[in-house]
Amino acid sequence: VRSDRESMFIVNAWAQQYFSQMLHEHVEGKTVGMRYFIERGFREDTIRKFQLGYSLDQRDALYQQALRKGYKKEYLEKTGLVIAYENGNVNDRFRGRVIFPVHSLSGKVVAFGGRVLKKDEKTAKYVNSPESPIYHKSNELYGIYFAKQAIVKADRCYLVEGYTDVISMHQSGVENVVASSGTALTHGQIRLIHRFTNNITVLYDGDAAGIKAAIRGIDLLLDEGMNVKVVLLPDGEDPDSFARSHSATEFTEFIRQHETDFIRFKTKLLLADAGNDPVKRAALIGDIIRTIAIVPDDITRTIYIRECSAMMEIDEQVVLNQVNKQRLSKN
Ligand code: ATP
Ligand code: MN
Ligand code: MN
Ligand code: MN
Repeated sequence: VRSDRESMFIVNAWAQQYFSQMLHEHVEGKTVGMRYFIERGFREDTIRKFQLGYSLDQRDALYQQALRKGYKKEYLEKTGLVIAYENGNVNDRFRGRVIFPVHSLSGKVVAFGGRVLKKDEKTAKYVNSPESPIYHKSNELYGIYFAKQAIVKADRCYLVEGYTDVISMHQSGVENVVASSGTALTHGQIRLIHRFTNNITVLYDGDAAGIKAAIRGIDLLLDEGMNVKVVLLPDGEDPDSFARSHSATEFTEFIRQHETDFIRFKTKLLLADAGNDPVKRAALIGDIIRTIAIVPDDITRTIYIRECSAMMEIDEQVVLNQVNKQRLSKN
């Protein structure tokens, strides 16, 4: 007998093919969905590789087709492909959206993301599959299945925010890239990357939100013993838009020139923010000391202590004492 999980994988595999078929063969998918991808600059081979799709703008087109093919409502509901209401109505979750299947490390479709074609105030830009027995969002990274070999080869993983960032970077030849899909990074996601490399470069948008996210999420990476670098993109750009307006060589060259060690990045940023305000400076020093204290490797930590105390204009011995105190109180 089949387990629930197996049945859910089977339903998802079918739905992925169904969405792709709608994109490539249905008149609505071809005119609306395909045009959207083409206008975004996605190539045909890219669309095939990432198994992109389209969901018809109808109440229950997928549901009806699934029933005709013999798939059970139970698993359509469990995977979140349909939403069943108390009054008996069953609606498709994804309607009139382009579809991004989310693949597990081994290449199984565990979830879907759907994007509206035109942004407006009322509808959410992205709709995603809910948590399910086969989809724990905090343990998945978009693109990991397509990136893992390239991550090993480059001994580095780029971390971006969104589906389209991953796809555009692939298309321009940078394949060692995964997305956290807009949520804060988790330990589970970091361990997934850590199976393939110790080195991670975070690519955030060059706006205030991107910078904030960079500082918030990255202590976790240090905690796992990863070497973390940060690249801030120009204001208003994300990796997708940047990859589309630059050649692969320009992209990698930009990264090479703007890659900053995370702790140095954070220290510089907080220093600029604090200015000469002594209270703010004291707070930032405490913040940097807590971050340095997370670094598991003794030698690396020592280097950071030397560098950051110079940057903060604090005696190195004082910083060292504080870091050690912090580490003792944690164990
Ligand atoms: P696009 O270029 O199509 O606008 P994006 O990836 O740049 O997409 P962002 O707004 O930067 O979109 O969001 C980054 C990621 O966060 C998305 O790829 C998606 O995974 C997730 N996300 C964004 N908006 C939502 C939403 N309303 N609901 C759920 N997830 C979202
Ligand atoms: Mn390691
Ligand atoms: Mn973005
Ligand atoms: Mn974008």
